Amino acid sequence: MKKYPSALENLIESFSKLPGVGRKTAERYALYTFTKMPEEDITDFSNALISMHKDISVCPCCGNITESGLCSICSDETRKHDQILVVESIKDLYKIESVGEYNGIYHVLNGVISFSKGIGIDDLNIDSLIEKVKNGEISEVILATNATLEGETTARYIRELLNEYNIKVTRLAHGLPVGGDLSYSDEMTILKAFEGRTEY
Ligand SMILES: [Zn+2]
Repeated sequence: MKKYPSALENLIESFSKLPGVGRKTAERYALYTFTKMPEEDITDFSNALISMHKDISVCPCCGNITESGLCSICSDETRKHDQILVVESIKDLYKIESVGEYNGIYHVLNGVISFSKGIGIDDLNIDSLIEKVKNGEISEVILATNATLEGETTARYIRELLNEYNIKVTRLAHGLPVGGDLSYSDEMTILKAFEGRTEY
């Protein structure tokens, strides 16, 4: 198969690293970028990628995005630092924050256990959660992984890890649709899920 010039091949390869983007789509994106995108947009696009890498990082305490040191939630002293809400992704954290009802801190797992995708417990950000509980800083852990098979498996696993500590563990109510993704739920559904959370 005839290959494109290496500059274009490199771009195709970069696009194909995005989730859900195969070779054909990556090829389309790369050719679009080359033939249709104004130079100014290309500069903005590449600057945005570089600046994201340079200017933001992961909060060492919870896994949220931060511009320096602890994130704005972890460093907010008006929040309840003994209540911790465990979510799958930064996207879920932002969704819950947008409702504006939760006033504790978070822990972002950055994924869920998935046997089919070969994602195990070691691939998730769990150790620092257990560490916090072990240090006796936490009184309640709310498990807010999604109501999917992977989300349930992960919640069960964390529940077991927390068994030996004397803390309250709750799970968001299943007003959330089964198979549902927190980040697609409306505000009312999330509020109800909080109110109806039960011991787990
Ligand atoms: Zn944080």
